[in-house]
Amino acid sequence: MSAKPFMLLLEDVNKSFEGFHAISNLTLYLDEGELRVIIGPNGAGKSTMLDLITGRTRPDSGKIELGCSSDLTRMNEHEINRLGVARKFQTPSVFVDHTVLENLLLAVEGSRSVWHALFRPLQRGQKTRVEEALETIGLKDRSHEKAGLLSHGEKQWLEIGMLLAQNPKLLLVDEPAAGMSDEETHRTGELLISLAGKHTVVVIEHDMNFVRQIARKVTVLHQGTVLCEGSVDQVQNDERVREVYLGRKKRPAVGGVKC
Ligand code: ADP
Ligand code: MG
Repeated sequence: MSAKPFMLLLEDVNKSFEGFHAISNLTLYLDEGELRVIIGPNGAGKSTMLDLITGRTRPDSGKIELGCSSDLTRMNEHEINRLGVARKFQTPSVFVDHTVLENLLLAVEGSRSVWHALFRPLQRGQKTRVEEALETIGLKDRSHEKAGLLSHGEKQWLEIGMLLAQNPKLLLVDEPAAGMSDEETHRTGELLISLAGKHTVVVIEHDMNFVRQIARKVTVLHQGTVLCEGSVDQVQNDERVREVYLGRKKRPAVGGVKC
Protein backbone atom coordinates (compact mmCIF):
# COMPACT_ATOMS: atom_id res chain seq x y z
CA MET A 1 0.00 0.00 0.00
CA SER A 2 1.37 3.37 -0.97
CA ALA A 3 1.77 5.97 1.81
CA LYS A 4 -0.15 8.58 -0.20
CA PRO A 5 -3.71 7.89 -1.34
CA PHE A 6 -4.01 6.75 -4.93
CA MET A 7 -5.10 9.36 -7.46
CA LEU A 8 -7.31 6.76 -9.06
CA LEU A 9 -8.47 3.45 -7.73
CA LEU A 10 -10.48 0.79 -9.53
CA GLU A 11 -11.23 -2.33 -7.50
CA ASP A 12 -13.06 -5.42 -8.72
CA VAL A 13 -14.94 -3.44 -11.35
CA ASN A 14 -17.37 -5.35 -13.55
CA LYS A 15 -19.42 -4.28 -16.54
CA SER A 16 -21.48 -6.49 -18.82
CA PHE A 17 -23.33 -5.60 -21.99
CA GLU A 18 -26.23 -7.99 -22.51
CA GLY A 19 -24.42 -10.78 -20.71
CA PHE A 20 -21.03 -10.09 -22.33
CA HIS A 21 -18.36 -9.31 -19.72
CA ALA A 22 -16.59 -6.30 -21.22
CA ILE A 23 -14.88 -5.55 -17.86
CA SER A 24 -14.17 -8.38 -15.39
CA ASN A 25 -12.87 -7.82 -11.86
CA LEU A 26 -10.70 -4.97 -13.10
CA THR A 27 -8.36 -3.67 -10.41
CA LEU A 28 -5.98 -0.81 -11.11
CA TYR A 29 -4.24 1.81 -8.96
CA LEU A 30 -2.67 5.05 -10.19
CA ASP A 31 -0.36 7.23 -8.13
CA GLU A 32 -0.62 10.99 -8.22
CA GLY A 33 1.47 12.45 -11.05
CA GLU A 34 1.99 9.09 -12.71
CA LEU A 35 2.04 8.58 -16.48
CA ARG A 36 0.48 5.17 -17.14
CA VAL A 37 0.20 3.56 -20.53
CA ILE A 38 -2.59 1.05 -21.13
CA ILE A 39 -2.24 -1.40 -23.99
CA GLY A 40 -4.29 -4.39 -25.04
CA PRO A 41 -5.76 -5.96 -28.17
CA ASN A 42 -8.97 -4.68 -29.76
CA GLY A 43 -11.97 -5.41 -27.58
CA ALA A 44 -9.84 -5.70 -24.42
CA GLY A 45 -12.02 -3.13 -22.67
CA LYS A 46 -9.74 -0.07 -22.80
CA SER A 47 -12.37 2.40 -24.00
CA THR A 48 -14.99 0.89 -21.71
CA MET A 49 -12.60 1.43 -18.80
CA LEU A 50 -12.37 5.14 -19.72
CA ASP A 51 -16.18 5.25 -20.06
CA LEU A 52 -16.46 3.87 -16.52
CA ILE A 53 -13.96 6.33 -15.04
CA THR A 54 -15.61 9.32 -16.72
CA GLY A 55 -19.17 8.33 -15.83
CA ARG A 56 -20.26 7.71 -19.40
CA THR A 57 -21.03 4.12 -18.36
CA ARG A 58 -21.93 2.88 -14.89
CA PRO A 59 -20.27 -0.27 -13.53
CA ASP A 60 -22.40 -3.25 -12.45
CA SER A 61 -20.20 -3.61 -9.38
CA GLY A 62 -16.87 -2.52 -7.95
CA LYS A 63 -15.20 0.63 -6.65
CA ILE A 64 -13.96 3.58 -8.69
CA GLU A 65 -12.51 6.40 -6.62
CA LEU A 66 -10.64 9.60 -7.34
CA GLY A 67 -8.35 10.63 -4.52
CA CYS A 68 -9.30 8.86 -1.32
CA SER A 69 -12.87 10.02 -1.06
CA SER A 70 -14.66 10.71 -4.33
CA ASP A 71 -16.82 7.75 -5.34
CA LEU A 72 -17.10 8.16 -9.10
CA THR A 73 -19.66 5.37 -9.47
CA ARG A 74 -22.30 7.67 -7.96
CA MET A 75 -21.62 10.67 -10.18
CA ASN A 76 -22.57 11.70 -13.68
CA GLU A 77 -20.16 12.75 -16.45
CA HIS A 78 -20.49 16.44 -15.70
CA GLU A 79 -19.82 16.02 -11.98
CA ILE A 80 -16.79 13.83 -12.64
CA ASN A 81 -15.43 16.34 -15.13
CA ARG A 82 -15.85 19.12 -12.57
CA LEU A 83 -13.80 17.07 -10.10
CA GLY A 84 -10.88 17.31 -12.52
CA VAL A 85 -11.16 14.29 -14.82
CA ALA A 86 -10.61 15.24 -18.46
CA ARG A 87 -10.79 12.90 -21.43
CA LYS A 88 -9.31 13.30 -24.87
CA PHE A 89 -11.11 11.23 -27.47
CA GLN A 90 -9.27 9.82 -30.46
CA THR A 91 -10.49 12.28 -33.09
CA PRO A 92 -9.68 15.93 -32.44
CA SER A 93 -12.70 18.15 -31.86
CA VAL A 94 -11.53 21.72 -31.99
CA PHE A 95 -13.49 24.73 -33.26
CA VAL A 96 -11.94 25.09 -36.71
CA ASP A 97 -13.30 28.59 -37.38
CA HIS A 98 -11.84 29.96 -34.16
CA THR A 99 -8.19 30.74 -33.54
CA VAL A 100 -5.95 28.59 -31.37
CA LEU A 101 -6.20 31.15 -28.56
CA GLU A 102 -9.99 31.37 -28.84
CA ASN A 103 -10.24 27.59 -28.58
CA LEU A 104 -8.30 27.72 -25.33
CA LEU A 105 -10.44 30.59 -24.04
CA LEU A 106 -13.58 28.60 -24.85
CA ALA A 107 -12.16 25.63 -22.97
CA VAL A 108 -11.18 27.59 -19.87
CA GLU A 109 -14.66 29.02 -19.59
CA GLY A 110 -16.13 25.52 -19.65
CA SER A 111 -19.80 25.41 -20.53
CA ARG A 112 -20.39 29.17 -20.45
CA SER A 113 -21.33 31.12 -23.58
CA VAL A 114 -19.01 31.86 -26.51
CA TRP A 115 -19.59 35.56 -25.94
CA HIS A 116 -18.47 35.21 -22.33
CA ALA A 117 -15.42 33.21 -23.29
CA LEU A 118 -14.23 35.54 -26.02
CA PHE A 119 -15.15 39.00 -24.79
CA ARG A 120 -15.12 38.92 -21.03
CA PRO A 121 -11.84 39.56 -19.22
CA LEU A 122 -10.37 36.39 -17.77
CA GLN A 123 -9.66 35.95 -14.11
CA ARG A 124 -5.93 35.98 -13.39
CA GLY A 125 -5.71 32.23 -12.79
CA GLN A 126 -7.52 31.48 -16.03
CA LYS A 127 -5.22 33.78 -18.02
CA THR A 128 -2.18 32.06 -16.58
CA ARG A 129 -3.61 28.65 -17.41
CA VAL A 130 -4.29 29.64 -21.03
CA GLU A 131 -0.77 31.05 -21.40
CA GLU A 132 0.78 27.98 -19.82
CA ALA A 133 -1.28 25.67 -22.02
CA LEU A 134 -0.17 27.55 -25.16
CA GLU A 135 3.44 27.21 -24.08
CA THR A 136 3.12 23.54 -23.17
CA ILE A 137 1.55 22.49 -26.47
CA GLY A 138 4.12 24.50 -28.46
CA LEU A 139 1.57 26.62 -30.38
CA LYS A 140 2.37 30.03 -28.94
CA ASP A 141 3.56 31.37 -32.30
CA ARG A 142 0.33 30.26 -33.93
CA SER A 143 -2.11 31.48 -31.32
CA HIS A 144 -3.92 33.83 -33.75
CA GLU A 145 -4.26 31.32 -36.58
CA LYS A 146 -7.53 29.53 -37.23
CA ALA A 147 -7.49 26.05 -35.74
CA GLY A 148 -8.73 24.70 -39.08
CA LEU A 149 -5.31 25.54 -40.57
CA LEU A 150 -3.44 23.31 -38.12
CA SER A 151 -2.13 19.87 -39.09
CA HIS A 152 -3.80 16.80 -37.61
CA GLY A 153 -1.07 16.52 -34.98
CA GLU A 154 -1.29 20.20 -34.05
CA LYS A 155 -5.06 19.89 -33.65
CA GLN A 156 -4.48 17.01 -31.25
CA TRP A 157 -2.05 19.15 -29.23
CA LEU A 158 -4.53 22.01 -29.21
CA GLU A 159 -7.18 19.69 -27.83
CA ILE A 160 -4.79 18.53 -25.13
CA GLY A 161 -4.15 22.23 -24.42
CA MET A 162 -7.90 22.81 -24.12
CA LEU A 163 -8.06 20.11 -21.46
CA LEU A 164 -5.00 21.53 -19.69
CA ALA A 165 -6.68 24.94 -19.57
CA GLN A 166 -9.24 23.30 -17.27
CA ASN A 167 -6.38 22.22 -14.98
CA PRO A 168 -7.36 18.54 -14.71
CA LYS A 169 -6.10 16.26 -11.96
CA LEU A 170 -6.48 13.23 -14.18
CA LEU A 171 -6.05 13.35 -17.94
CA LEU A 172 -7.23 10.37 -20.00
CA VAL A 173 -5.89 10.24 -23.55
CA ASP A 174 -7.12 7.69 -26.08
CA GLU A 175 -4.62 6.83 -28.85
CA PRO A 176 -3.09 10.28 -29.26
CA ALA A 177 -0.57 9.23 -31.91
CA ALA A 178 -3.05 7.68 -34.36
CA GLY A 179 -2.68 9.28 -37.79
CA MET A 180 0.36 11.35 -36.83
CA SER A 181 3.68 11.61 -38.66
CA ASP A 182 6.72 10.13 -36.89
CA GLU A 183 7.91 13.59 -35.88
CA GLU A 184 4.50 14.58 -34.53
CA THR A 185 4.30 11.29 -32.66
CA HIS A 186 7.65 11.95 -31.03
CA ARG A 187 6.64 15.49 -30.04
CA THR A 188 3.38 14.16 -28.64
CA GLY A 189 5.42 11.78 -26.51
CA GLU A 190 7.51 14.67 -25.20
CA LEU A 191 4.35 16.64 -24.47
CA LEU A 192 2.78 13.80 -22.47
CA ILE A 193 5.99 13.18 -20.54
CA SER A 194 6.11 16.89 -19.65
CA LEU A 195 2.59 16.67 -18.19
CA ALA A 196 3.40 13.87 -15.77
CA GLY A 197 4.08 15.13 -12.27
CA LYS A 198 1.74 18.09 -12.69
CA HIS A 199 -1.15 15.86 -13.73
CA THR A 200 -1.87 12.16 -13.52
CA VAL A 201 -1.98 10.92 -17.10
CA VAL A 202 -3.43 7.73 -18.60
CA VAL A 203 -2.57 7.04 -22.23
CA ILE A 204 -4.14 4.28 -24.28
CA GLU A 205 -1.87 3.42 -27.17
CA HIS A 206 -1.17 0.80 -29.83
CA ASP A 207 2.06 2.05 -31.36
CA MET A 208 4.76 0.17 -29.44
CA ASN A 209 7.55 2.56 -30.48
CA PHE A 210 5.52 5.35 -28.96
CA VAL A 211 4.80 3.26 -25.86
CA ARG A 212 8.53 2.65 -25.54
CA GLN A 213 9.22 6.40 -25.78
CA ILE A 214 6.80 7.47 -23.05
CA ALA A 215 6.08 4.53 -20.79
CA ARG A 216 7.28 4.16 -17.24
CA LYS A 217 4.72 1.58 -16.28
CA VAL A 218 2.51 -0.30 -18.70
CA THR A 219 -0.73 -2.10 -17.91
CA VAL A 220 -1.88 -4.77 -20.35
CA LEU A 221 -5.62 -5.30 -20.51
CA HIS A 222 -7.13 -8.48 -21.89
CA GLN A 223 -10.75 -9.60 -21.77
CA GLY A 224 -11.62 -6.72 -19.47
CA THR A 225 -9.04 -7.44 -16.80
CA VAL A 226 -5.36 -6.75 -16.05
CA LEU A 227 -3.22 -9.40 -17.68
CA CYS A 228 0.10 -7.96 -16.64
CA GLU A 229 1.76 -4.77 -15.38
CA GLY A 230 5.37 -3.62 -15.48
CA SER A 231 8.02 -1.85 -17.54
CA VAL A 232 7.84 -1.97 -21.35
CA ASP A 233 10.56 -4.66 -21.38
CA GLN A 234 8.75 -6.73 -18.78
CA VAL A 235 5.45 -6.71 -20.62
CA GLN A 236 7.01 -7.27 -24.04
CA ASN A 237 8.86 -10.31 -22.72
CA ASP A 238 5.87 -11.72 -20.88
CA GLU A 239 4.70 -14.99 -22.37
CA ARG A 240 1.03 -14.28 -21.66
CA VAL A 241 1.24 -10.93 -23.45
CA ARG A 242 2.87 -12.62 -26.44
CA GLU A 243 0.11 -15.20 -26.52
CA VAL A 244 -2.55 -12.50 -26.52
CA TYR A 245 -0.90 -10.43 -29.25
CA LEU A 246 0.63 -13.15 -31.39
CA GLY A 247 -1.84 -15.95 -30.71
CA ARG A 248 0.83 -18.33 -29.44
CA LYS A 249 -0.09 -21.69 -27.98
CA LYS A 250 -0.97 -21.44 -24.28
CA ARG A 251 1.56 -22.52 -21.67
CA PRO A 252 0.49 -23.68 -18.24
CA ALA A 253 -0.59 -20.70 -16.11
CA VAL A 254 2.14 -19.39 -13.85
CA GLY A 255 -0.21 -17.42 -11.60
CA GLY A 256 -0.26 -13.82 -10.44
CA VAL A 257 -0.70 -10.77 -12.59
CA LYS A 258 2.65 -9.08 -11.99
CA CYS A 259 5.20 -9.61 -14.72
P1 ADP B 1 -11.08 -1.64 -26.68
O1 ADP B 1 -11.22 -0.16 -26.49
O2 ADP B 1 -10.03 -2.26 -25.80
O3 ADP B 1 -10.86 -2.02 -28.11
P2 ADP B 1 -13.85 -1.69 -25.86
O4 ADP B 1 -13.84 -1.20 -24.48
O5 ADP B 1 -14.29 -0.74 -26.92
O6 ADP B 1 -12.45 -2.33 -26.23
O7 ADP B 1 -14.82 -2.94 -25.94
C1 ADP B 1 -14.72 -4.07 -25.09
C2 ADP B 1 -15.83 -5.03 -25.45
O8 ADP B 1 -17.08 -4.53 -24.99
C3 ADP B 1 -15.96 -5.24 -26.95
O9 ADP B 1 -16.25 -6.60 -27.19
C4 ADP B 1 -17.14 -4.35 -27.31
O10 ADP B 1 -17.83 -4.87 -28.43
C5 ADP B 1 -17.99 -4.40 -26.05
N1 ADP B 1 -18.76 -3.18 -25.85
C6 ADP B 1 -18.26 -1.97 -25.54
N2 ADP B 1 -19.25 -1.06 -25.40
C7 ADP B 1 -20.41 -1.71 -25.64
C8 ADP B 1 -21.79 -1.34 -25.64
N3 ADP B 1 -22.17 -0.09 -25.36
N4 ADP B 1 -22.71 -2.30 -25.94
C9 ADP B 1 -22.33 -3.56 -26.20
N5 ADP B 1 -21.05 -3.99 -26.20
C10 ADP B 1 -20.09 -3.09 -25.93
MG1 MG C 1 -11.09 1.45 -27.84
